[in-house]
Amino acid sequence: MYGAIIGDIAGSRFEFDNHRDKRFTLFHPLGFVTDDTVMSLALAQAVMEADRLMPLRGPDYELLLAQKAVSCMKSIGRHYPDCGYGGRFYRWMFSARSQPYNSFGNGAAMRVSAAGLAARTLEEALAMSDALTAVTHNHPEGIKGARATTLCIFLARQGHSQADIRRRVEQEYYRLDMTVEGLRPVYRFDATCQGTVPQAIVCFLEATSFEDAIRNAISIGGDSDTIGAITGAIAQAYFGVPEDMKEQAAGYLDERLLAILADWDASGLGQGRPT
Ligand SMILES: [Mg+2]
Repeated sequence: MYGAIIGDIAGSRFEFDNHRDKRFTLFHPLGFVTDDTVMSLALAQAVMEADRLMPLRGPDYELLLAQKAVSCMKSIGRHYPDCGYGGRFYRWMFSARSQPYNSFGNGAAMRVSAAGLAARTLEEALAMSDALTAVTHNHPEGIKGARATTLCIFLARQGHSQADIRRRVEQEYYRLDMTVEGLRPVYRFDATCQGTVPQAIVCFLEATSFEDAIRNAISIGGDSDTIGAITGAIAQAYFGVPEDMKEQAAGYLDERLLAILADWDASGLGQGRPT
């Protein structure tokens, strides 16, 4: 969870005031947590609640996980009405109805890290990604953006190299014919999965450390907190997150979000290599 959270905090003050340079203060007093952190933790809570009811993740697990995704995003998200939600998601969250609305917004990818972190097999990771995503972002590009992010996180946990991960993404999801240097002067705000996820993945693929990945992500501009969250989630699985950065990030969270994070860490999900 820390990867997405740190990327979100670092990018928060640059979402509408891009900073196209790798030099900036990662944990700035004006940084804050946005919807990317709140929803990532809401879906982590959904996975924990589903696992508590069905620890072996039997045949109906995905149905249960989808129900938990709805209930956790709504119950947790409603405490943070001003944290930066898109308009349609906001209406979905405050509605009594819970129909998906065919979105391919990058919210599908920024919130999904729990799937890649908690799964034991790639097949399970992708099924969990679909369950967490389709409750709102059921457009094929929404499903795809979440799956591509999940794939990267899962392969990183398994110890695959950046070159391997690039190959798999290119084979199955997106062309990655771009570089951080090339994106930096020309990339523009784009809230779609297909206009965010490939760029965020490239920011990870070119990185030499967790921090370098976050700096790449902010430096290309665009939807900085969301790109930071997606890149950060993948980079966490690949590089790990330095302890001092975890401590600094925790200082931006309130009691409610800290409690979810503590439960997640105590659950052991996402720690160690999957099979
Ligand atoms: Mg945001």
